This record gives sequence, C-alpha cells and structure tokens, in this order.
Amino acid sequence: MQHDGVGGACFSCGRPWGNGCACQFCNQMAGCPQGVTLSSSVRRLGAHLVDGVLCLVTCVIGWLIWSLIVYGNGQTPAKQLMGMRVVNLATGTRAGWGRMFVREHLAKLLIGLLVGWLVLPYFWLLWDKNRQELWDKLLDTAVVDDPEGQVTSTPQTEIRYVEQPYRPPQLPPSSEQPTPWGRQPSGSDRQGEQGGYPPYPPPPPPPRR
Ligand SMILES: [Zn+2]
Repeated sequence: MQHDGVGGACFSCGRPWGNGCACQFCNQMAGCPQGVTLSSSVRRLGAHLVDGVLCLVTCVIGWLIWSLIVYGNGQTPAKQLMGMRVVNLATGTRAGWGRMFVREHLAKLLIGLLVGWLVLPYFWLLWDKNRQELWDKLLDTAVVDDPEGQVTSTPQTEIRYVEQPYRPPQLPPSSEQPTPWGRQPSGSDRQGEQGGYPPYPPPPPPPRR
C-alpha cells in the first residue's frame, strides 16, 4: 500500500486528520501504533518540572546516570515515570540513544545559549502545531504518551507524517461530493453533513459598480 503521509481521515478515529503530526481530534500520532498519542502541553511541561526535581534530589549525578540508561528507550527519567517517549517524527520509531543524548545535552545547551534558558524555549510547544520544542525541531522529534511501550525501534505503520500544506477544515469524505454548481462543501455548511445539498444554484453575484 502506498501512503503519501497523513492528511485524509485519521486511521484511529476516522475523522479528518488536520494539519499536524497528530490527529486534530484524538491526538493519534502519525507513524505510531494505534492508541499512541501526542503528549499534551501540560504533561510536557510537567515532565520538565519532574526532571528538574529529580536532578536536584539526586544531586545531578544520579539523574545523569539514570538518563544515560533510559536514553536508549527514547526517554528521560521523568518521561519514564510518566509513560512518555521521544519519537522520530519522520518514522514514528523511538528516538535512539545518540539522538537523545544530542537532544538533551547538546541541542538544549545550544538553544539555551542562543535564546536563553528561561521562558521561550520551554514554552515554545504552546504555539507549535506539533507541540515541538526548539530542540525537537532541530532533531526532528516529537513526544508521545506511550505507557505500554508500543513504540519500538522499527516502524509500526506505513502512515507517516509528511508536512501538509494548509487546508481548510473539511467534512468527512462521504459528504465531499461536488454540488451541481461545482462548489465544494466547506466546514461551515453544516447541513451538508447529513443529507447532501439543496439543488438550487447560488444567488447571483451583487451588481458591480
Ligand atoms: Zn483521530
């Protein structure tokens, strides 16, 4: 089967996917097994906090050793406790040890030096459509909720994330037939959802001055 990426109907809930790496309705992550969802901003920011606390209470060194052990699973200590995982956006596989090491130590350091460590880099995900931090963008990663460890190191589905051009919200495919006057139904035409379109032409355009 050929897939040119997501963009049509969600393979988990069947509703229109939307424009990002995860379904706009159920948060199913592209390229990942069904049920693996893009982590919410609240959980992402919570994990930053938990990592910070763990780092302090283990005098940094404990957190560091723990990190080096779990990086191979695409996790940090907080992500392991919270059932979250860093995935490779292009393949839907878990981020490997090398990518995690670069993400956590080199990319965060570099971005911290360039734009400062405080508000901006950590809150970037709030306005990013894929809830990516700047270091996620640098390394092409995203963070998912995967408490059962369904995301492995091999791709699980052919349905990958490919950056989609902006498209306005669409109705499900069943009601997407062209009307007699060739106009496509749009998201605001709620009556088209159930029983098609009335067979009259649109009103004539207003007279031009
Ligand atoms: Zn969905």
